[in-house]
Amino acid sequence: VNHYLENIRTKAHLNAFVEVYAQSALQQAERIDEKLAKGKAGKLAGMVIGIKDVLNYAGHASHASSNILKGYISQFTTTAVQRLIDEDAIIIGRLNCDEFGMGSSNENSAHGKVLNALDESKVPGGSSGGSAVAVQANLCTVSLGTDTGGSVRQPAAFTGVIGMKPTYSRVSRWGLIAYASSFDTIGIFSNTVKDNALVMEIMAGHDEFDSTSSRKPVFHYSELLHFEKKAKVAFIKETLDSPALQSEIRENTIQVLEKLTSEGHEVKAVEFPLLKYALPTYYILTTAEASSNLSRFDGVKYGYRSSNAHNLESMYKLTRSEGFGEEVKRRIMLGTFVLSASYYDAYFTKAQKVRRLIKEYTENLLNEFDYIIMPTTPSTAFKFGEHSGDPVAMYLEDLFTVQASVSGVPAISLPNGKDKSGMPIGLQIIANSFKEAELYAFSNYLT
Ligand code: GLN
Repeated sequence: VNHYLENIRTKAHLNAFVEVYAQSALQQAERIDEKLAKGKAGKLAGMVIGIKDVLNYAGHASHASSNILKGYISQFTTTAVQRLIDEDAIIIGRLNCDEFGMGSSNENSAHGKVLNALDESKVPGGSSGGSAVAVQANLCTVSLGTDTGGSVRQPAAFTGVIGMKPTYSRVSRWGLIAYASSFDTIGIFSNTVKDNALVMEIMAGHDEFDSTSSRKPVFHYSELLHFEKKAKVAFIKETLDSPALQSEIRENTIQVLEKLTSEGHEVKAVEFPLLKYALPTYYILTTAEASSNLSRFDGVKYGYRSSNAHNLESMYKLTRSEGFGEEVKRRIMLGTFVLSASYYDAYFTKAQKVRRLIKEYTENLLNEFDYIIMPTTPSTAFKFGEHSGDPVAMYLEDLFTVQASVSGVPAISLPNGKDKSGMPIGLQIIANSFKEAELYAFSNYLT
């Protein structure tokens, strides 16, 4: 803990941590030392973990990097976080992110931007940018992020660490401040596949507080990392042919595919003609869900209330216009629009149908193949400000990550070399629902 506290102090300018729980982390460490001496410590004894600022932790602030939650203190703890604490993990602080998880660069945060430790003029990715940099810069061993459309995998790719998004419903969402409830997952950043698998096996599993959480059995992923079978791997032509794809990312991805072929695995090109619909489907459905989820922030129940209000109506209006940032407002308006009576069928219902098609197509592919491989992102980390004036350019960052989110299947990003400027490249592997064990074992084989 002292080692990490020192690193956090010397690298404070990266702005990864919003708050550090130095005292409680040290006290917890002492308690665990005593337990260890008695041979009674939990499976994560001494693992130092940072959590994204969207996960409630009783007695602590949790602000989703938004001014609208200023002053809010959690009354309860996220189930996933509680399960880690129960196994003697040490929660060292909360981590910066894009406001309510909306963004791909961590530039939309009330706490300010997070710097990529490899090149401080570049973004760390988002929305879990603080969580990615915390592991990248050695500020904690493992961190939790959330991945709705790529927010763990994309920042993992940009910072050169491992980022895992589980199957939707594998990890309870109880305690996670909702962005888009039918997409939201809690994911993990780590430097090794083993750490990631270990934390996942502890967080995963049914929770009576989240009725959507799966009752399927959880395996000991960290003990199932040995991989010796011959895999059937598909790669999606449209991703490698995409004009948006940076050439070095294409080359490095092809190298992995060639290596797999030479090692006797079956590697085949497949088509995914729906790829171009994945991003619009994602943004229609997630903005719709966000507009509904974020209606609870009205100045009455949580955090911030405008002091300029003179009646109830203006209290709602002013609180929301002063409390939410630009990107969040844009999404609330988009979501309200696609849900409005005259456009509901044209946008929301249509997107629901396309979601079903994408999910079925993806699952069929994953019934035929063990894994789908593609780049995590079209480009490596970009400069601050490069996309901030153009929301559509920012949304295009999610081109390759949203297929797994729309389909609910698990996906991981692994470091796969660097580009000419030295920025990390991410390789994404997707498996069928609840195949976390297979995904971790194959990742272990590849790293
Ligand atoms: N960049 C995507 C978005 O802004 C993904 C966010 C996420 O996964 N939380 O919606």
